[in-house]
Amino acid sequence: MVFLAVYNLFMVQKEIQKLTLIINAVILVLVFALAGLFYLVGASFLIWFSIPTALVYIFGFYLIRKNKLDVYVRLVYGWLTLYMSITTVFLGYGFGFHLYSLSMIPIIFYTEYMAYKLGTTTINTKLYSGLVIAAYLISTGHAAYAKPVYETDTRIAGTFWIFNSLTVLAFVTFYSRLMISMIIKSERQLSDRANKDRLTNLYNRHYMMERLKEAHEDDAVYGIAMIDIDDFKSINDRYGHAAGDEVLISVARAIENTCKDCVVSRWGGEEFLVLMSSDTSILETLRTTVEAMTVTYEGNEIKLTLTAGFELKNKAITLDNWIAAADEKLYQGKNSGKNKVVV
Ligand code: GH3
Ligand code: MG
Ligand code: MG
Repeated sequence: MVFLAVYNLFMVQKEIQKLTLIINAVILVLVFALAGLFYLVGASFLIWFSIPTALVYIFGFYLIRKNKLDVYVRLVYGWLTLYMSITTVFLGYGFGFHLYSLSMIPIIFYTEYMAYKLGTTTINTKLYSGLVIAAYLISTGHAAYAKPVYETDTRIAGTFWIFNSLTVLAFVTFYSRLMISMIIKSERQLSDRANKDRLTNLYNRHYMMERLKEAHEDDAVYGIAMIDIDDFKSINDRYGHAAGDEVLISVARAIENTCKDCVVSRWGGEEFLVLMSSDTSILETLRTTVEAMTVTYEGNEIKLTLTAGFELKNKAITLDNWIAAADEKLYQGKNSGKNKVVV
């Protein structure tokens, strides 16, 4: 389990690293594209300012590779804020550079989430979004009261406005989507953890009980099968606990594959409870499948059988008694030689 957690973290790290590399590359391309546009409007200071900006993002690749994402994030946010403010002061807000602050704020909070996922120290989101807002107010305020340094054709400003708006909207959309899909993914993982058995990935007893309550209450015809591996203790004793685990996994897959419409749960150690239709031939198929199956583990070829007890739903009896009746049939099978289906 510890290994799994570390592995997951490693995957998360790799994914974030890859994503950050892509975003950094996109920003770098944008810096060059904008430098070209600055050249068109003759904003010489901004062309020169594009050089350290490009260097910052090139250095960013190095930071990402070295996995110094916390340093990268601060540098990038800091520089983007500076870039946005300077261009707004120099060109006025007609160009729409101040809009970049709109995309910065969700990214700052996204970073907090990422830091939480990675277990690293989170950035101070309030401070950083506060700084972005302050830079926005100062630069747009300056542009509103004072004339921009470079006076340009309003048609060129309009082109910038469209370009910058589209970029900002793309970023905001991308990050919102990313956040939501990550939240959905992690909610799914959480509910799987709560409802599923870690070893076999079948539903656990707790979840199955809820499904059984529903089935017990509704009007459809249902049966339940209590399935137990025969002489499982001796498999453990002979081949070891890990081999026993492998057998449990193989049996879980066999049940699922034999009955695609069933709800299959791991009820206890080597006991499975299956919610199914009234068609008990499925259980006979399962019994012969498992009898014919060989589980190979560390060179050992393990043979096994199972016994099942089946009981149809009967509205006159309680859920507990329904389960107990299936258990009783299983017990009968165990007492009459095992490797049986008792209906
Ligand atoms: P029977 O045919 O009557 O069912 O005999 P049995 O040996 O299968 O039944 P018993 O209840 O005596 O033994 C069940 C064993 O299952 C005991 C327990 O150590 C083992 N077991 C329970 N959970 C696990 C598990 O997760 N992994 C492994 N490897 N063994 C388990
Ligand atoms: Mg058993
Ligand atoms: Mg048992």
